[in-house]
Amino acid sequence: MTDLQRDVPQALEPLDESWSTALAVVAHPDDMEFGAAAAVARWTGQGKRVVYCMATAGEAGIDGMEPETTKEVRTAEEIESARIVGVDTVEFLGLPDGTIEYGVPLRRLIAQMVRTHRPEIVITGNFDQFFPNGILNQADHIAVGRATLDAVRDAGNRWVFPEPGLEPWGGVRQVWVSGSPGARHGVDITDTFDAGVASLRAHQAYLDGLGWVDFDPAAFLGSMAEPAGALMGTRYAASFEVFSLGFPDDD
Ligand SMILES: [Zn+2]
Repeated sequence: MTDLQRDVPQALEPLDESWSTALAVVAHPDDMEFGAAAAVARWTGQGKRVVYCMATAGEAGIDGMEPETTKEVRTAEEIESARIVGVDTVEFLGLPDGTIEYGVPLRRLIAQMVRTHRPEIVITGNFDQFFPNGILNQADHIAVGRATLDAVRDAGNRWVFPEPGLEPWGGVRQVWVSGSPGARHGVDITDTFDAGVASLRAHQAYLDGLGWVDFDPAAFLGSMAEPAGALMGTRYAASFEVFSLGFPDDD
């Protein structure tokens, strides 16, 4: 981290919740559940629509299981974890787990998702080199997060990735990055924290495969949600870095 300012805790500003559809684009099954799922439960509980898009099926995620089997297991786990937080559409892009490349093909796939689902808010995962705790981030997360930010812009331009039958969509107002060291916004997840925990627990085969002795999803998620809550004056919160698209007619 070169910018020490980014590590200084400060109050989190509330996210703008005046929207009706969001698209969450992440690299792997479990990425939403390691921090953002409780916020999704809050929003679906408000009647908002949230769609999940997984770049991979997480098939390289379990050391002791062959990828073909893991793909099936983790796809099912993700669909169940999404259901728990009120998400009934999970898209899978079918990219190779562990070796996603940032580039034009990835931007094209994500832009197609944006045009298909026409969200006002796009959510993705941290694409900084590091997690907020200083641990090195993973290559797929960095590629997908960066490409998502770019694909949102691409989706609004009819001359970039023109697709018959798929109209451009320039209605995304903001991209929200979960788990970012640059988070300055947050949302109260006190009432939906338990749904977020249940959503993570749904990744049972994956969590078992990690072999983390005594891993407790509630304690783990609480260790992030409590400090964020302290910055919002709530018991629990989820934090996000907000990127506004910055078109002149945005308010
Ligand atoms: Zn991941």
